[in-house]
Amino acid sequence: MRYLSTRGHPERRRFCEILLEGLAPDGGLYMPESYPQVDAATLERWRALPYAELAFEILSLYIDDIPADDLRALCAKTYTPEVFGSEEIVPLRELEDGVYLEALSNGPTLAFKDMAMQLLGNLFEYELGRRGEELNILGATSGDTGSAAEYAMRGKKGVRVFMTSPDGRMSPFQQAQMFSLQDANIHNIAVAGVFDDCQDIVKAVSNDLAFKRKYKIGTVNSINWARLLAQVVYYFAGYFQATAGSNRQVSFAVPSGNFGNVCAGHVARQMGLPIHTLVVATNENDVLDEFFRTGVYRVRGAADTHETSSPSMDISKASNFERFVFDLLGRDTDRVRTLFQDELGRAGRFDLGTDPAFAQAATRFGFRSSRSTHEDRIATIRDTDKRFATLIDTHTADGLKAAREHLTPGVPMVVLETALPIKFAASIVEALGHEPDRPERFVGIEDLPKRVTRLPSDVEAVKRYISEHCD
Ligand SMILES: *Cc1c(COP(=O)(O)O)cnc(C)c1O
Repeated sequence: MRYLSTRGHPERRRFCEILLEGLAPDGGLYMPESYPQVDAATLERWRALPYAELAFEILSLYIDDIPADDLRALCAKTYTPEVFGSEEIVPLRELEDGVYLEALSNGPTLAFKDMAMQLLGNLFEYELGRRGEELNILGATSGDTGSAAEYAMRGKKGVRVFMTSPDGRMSPFQQAQMFSLQDANIHNIAVAGVFDDCQDIVKAVSNDLAFKRKYKIGTVNSINWARLLAQVVYYFAGYFQATAGSNRQVSFAVPSGNFGNVCAGHVARQMGLPIHTLVVATNENDVLDEFFRTGVYRVRGAADTHETSSPSMDISKASNFERFVFDLLGRDTDRVRTLFQDELGRAGRFDLGTDPAFAQAATRFGFRSSRSTHEDRIATIRDTDKRFATLIDTHTADGLKAAREHLTPGVPMVVLETALPIKFAASIVEALGHEPDRPERFVGIEDLPKRVTRLPSDVEAVKRYISEHCD
């Protein structure tokens, strides 16, 4: 399998070449040159496999530069009941007739990003070891991504993490999760500023090519193809659990921000997994809902980006969305480049509403969308607790609300649970009047010793810190 850029750069790359990279050289995103097809007989064979074996089967269709035995061992080491809390890894439970929750958030940081990041940590360690190289991951986080990256990379050989976060602006639980890590290769940097300041610092450091090369700076952001690929697996696992026999269709509802999670669903569907509908659920930051309703993709400005009670979906643009548009436009790289480079660069928006291809987002690719508000989330959490004695978090509530708006009789609807309620306790208190239960291993983490360095919002200060801690 070779990978190509959505913007038409002529180079074709292999999996391990793009593993440690971000964007393609022309600013596009990497995509597989074709989608391997999975037939009904293969699906039936895969149905009986444990999660780690299923992951190996799917990954091996896309990765041909890691020996099969090594790849199988990496999957086995990643997806264990010890790390993910159950034999099923992503257990499904029925909420009401035909509506299911698929638990993707029982990993180390209690959010679905662990599903991909845990594998990425093992892939990085493997590939860096093979090359005899090192990597310093620099990131900015306001919560889920940073902690998932740190828990995936802690103790890994050849990898250091430098994670900036806005000082005092994460929830106490999220701060405690990150800052209580004592591993020598994990560096928490609390920046005196807001999340945008952290992102600006990361961008400035990455744009200093000499510094970047000298200190081997890399990232783990959501456009990484390996992360997306790891997420494809749980669509298959959810499908198998929701259907007893073959040839049935299943729909998925996906709490969405950067379009990484639901893009993995799109890939699974393109491979032949019988997915009926992919419901894109957004909060008040409805960039994606607007597109799927109207064909207009409009990047929001800072003033237009809302801080909501499902904060991991608070995005101004959806960084993986270009991947879907690439397929929607029949992989016409000239058009993708025009839309994402020229039109977005000039006008901050493009409009496919009158393009014949736009209708295919629904008809051919199965996409639908919905938007919800804070009031919707609180009402959904309350209703789910009352009628089904089940506690869900605010992001999953966005997904469940959207799911109910796109049900098809006879087709199971699987809502992806992307975080556990304890991560967003304030909204649970608002909805139910009490704190959510906390998994045993997180009791009292706010009182653990904290390992964090406070720095001013200053690029040079962050560079100095990195250079002093790379040896
Ligand atoms: C990251 C995240 C999302 C959004 O996922 P995307 O891949 O960015 O669409 C939704 N819910 C939670 C809890 C998250 O952490």
